[in-house]
Amino acid sequence: MIQYQGKGVYGAIAIGKVSVFTKEDMTVKRTRIEDVEAEKARVCKAKEESIEQLGGIYEKALKEVGEDNAQIFEVHMMLLDDEDYNESVNTIIETQEVNAEYAVAVTSDNFSSMFAAMDDAYMQARAADIKDISNRLIANLQGRKNGGEGVSGKAVICAYDLAPSETVSLDKEKVLAFATAHGSSNSHTAILARNMNIPAIIGLGDEFLAAMENGREVVVDGYNGIVIADPDEETIAKYEKKIAEDEEKKHLLQELKGKENKTIDGKEISLYANISSVDNIVNALLNDAGGVGLFRSEFLYLEQDDYPTEEQQFLAYKKAVETMAGKKVIIRTLDIGADKKVDYFGLKPEDNPALGYRAIRICLTRPEIFKTQLRALFRASAFGNLGIMFPMIASEKELRQALAMCDEVKEELTQQGISYSDKVEIGIMIETPAAALISDRLAPLVDFFSVGTNDLTQYTLACDRQNSDIEPFVDTHHEAILRLIEMSAKNAHEHGAWIGICGELAADTELTETFLRMGIDELSVSASFVLKVRERIRSIDLSK
Ligand code: PEP
Ligand code: MG
Repeated sequence: MIQYQGKGVYGAIAIGKVSVFTKEDMTVKRTRIEDVEAEKARVCKAKEESIEQLGGIYEKALKEVGEDNAQIFEVHMMLLDDEDYNESVNTIIETQEVNAEYAVAVTSDNFSSMFAAMDDAYMQARAADIKDISNRLIANLQGRKNGGEGVSGKAVICAYDLAPSETVSLDKEKVLAFATAHGSSNSHTAILARNMNIPAIIGLGDEFLAAMENGREVVVDGYNGIVIADPDEETIAKYEKKIAEDEEKKHLLQELKGKENKTIDGKEISLYANISSVDNIVNALLNDAGGVGLFRSEFLYLEQDDYPTEEQQFLAYKKAVETMAGKKVIIRTLDIGADKKVDYFGLKPEDNPALGYRAIRICLTRPEIFKTQLRALFRASAFGNLGIMFPMIASEKELRQALAMCDEVKEELTQQGISYSDKVEIGIMIETPAAALISDRLAPLVDFFSVGTNDLTQYTLACDRQNSDIEPFVDTHHEAILRLIEMSAKNAHEHGAWIGICGELAADTELTETFLRMGIDELSVSASFVLKVRERIRSIDLSK
C-alpha cells in the first residue's frame, strides 16, 4: 500500500482502477529500420485499428449528437484511406529507411501545413483533422491507449494535468475520479469534477504519475487529497463505509428539494446551477436549481474540430431554454483563450495567456465569430427565458461595443423577419478588478452582474489560477476580493441591476452569510452543491 498526498478539489471517495491519460501531442523519435516491408505492414495494421476505433466513435456520436456532428468521424476514416497520405508515409519509410511513427509524423506536418495555407476556410480547418488522424495512427503504432480506452468500465483518470479540451474528449461515463500530478483548485478539471460529482485531486506530483499504470487499483480520497495505491482489505472496507455514509447524506439533502432558499428571518435569494453543456442541464434539474446562472458556452467550441455554426449553436441554446421550461438560463458568450484553447482558432502562443487575447477581446476583434453566436442566442431567446452575459469586461468601451453588436444583430434579425424575445436580460461578469472598480459606470448599462470569483481572485491577488505551486498564497477569502464584491453589489443596486456570483466561491458555505449581508441576489453553483447551499441559507438568521 502506498499513499500519495495532493490537494483534494472535490470531496468524494472513489475506489477503482487507474487509466493513465497521456497527451495526444507526443514526441516521435526518428530511428533507422532494416525491414522496410515489415514497417509498412505495421502502418497497415495501425490504420485498420484506427478505422475500427473511428467506426465505434462514429456510432456513439450518431446516437449522442446526431448525424451532422458525427460526420466528422466519417471524414477521418476517409482521410486515413487517402491515397496521397498513405503514399507519402510509405515513400518516407522506403526512401529514408525510418520507423513508421516518424514517417506518419512528417506526413502529418507536411499535409497539415499544406491545408493550413489554403484560402478556403473549410480546407484550412482540415489541417486539424490531419493532425488528429495522424496522432491516432501514431498512438496505435506505439500500442498506447488514451484516457479510459485501456481499461474497461469506469476508471480513475491519472494525468500530468488536463486541459479543458482534453477533459471534454473523455468519455464521462467511464470517469470515476481525476488524479493529476499538477493542476490547481480553480482549473477547469476541478470545476468539471464538481459538475460531475466525482472526486478530484490535484498536485500529486511527478512521482505519483510515474508510479501509475493502467489497471492498478487505487482509492481516491477527495476529502483528504490522498490517493492510496494497492489498498489492503481493511482500507477498502473503511472507504466503502465512507461511500455509504456519503450516499446517506446525499439522501438527506434530497429532502430539501422543493423548499425555498430563504433565511430564518425571511430573506430569499435565487439559487442557480452552472453548466458547461446542454447535457448538464439534467443535473441542474435533478438538484432542483432555480435556473442556470452560467452556461459556459465555450465548451460547445471545445468539443468541436471547427467553428460551431449558427444553426448548431441555436439548437443547443434552444434545447437549454426549452429544457429549463421558463426558468432563467444565462448563457455566457464565448470565453475562449487562456487555458481554453482549440487549434482551429489559430491563437498564437503567449507569455501570459491569462492576461492575453481571450474572451471578449477575441469576440470584439473577430466580429464574425461573435455575431454568429449572438444571432444564435437571440434566435433561441424566442423559445424560453434566456439571458446573455459577457466575460472579462474591463472597460466601459468594451461593454458599449458588445452592446452595439447585440443591437446590430437584433436589427438584422428584425429585417429578416426572424423572431427573438425583447425580454433578454443582458449582463456582464465581474471578473476583473477593473470592472468591480468601475461598476458604478457599468451598472446603468446592464440588467445584471455576475461575479466570476475564479478569475477575480487570480487578477486581484496576482495568482495564476493554473499554477499549483502558488496555492498557499491563494486566499480565496481575502478582504480585497470581498471588498470588490461588496462594492459591485452596492453599485448594481444603486442603478437598478441585480447581482449574482457564479465563480466557485458561490458554493463556499463559510461565506454564504457574508454574501447575503452584502445583498447578493443570486448564487450559481455546480449542480451538486445546490442543496448544500440551500441547507446553509435556511440555517442563517440575518436579524441576529
Ligand atoms: C470565473 O472566472 O469565476 C468564472 C465563473 O469563469 P471561468 O471559471 O469559466 O473562467
Ligand atoms: Mg472567468
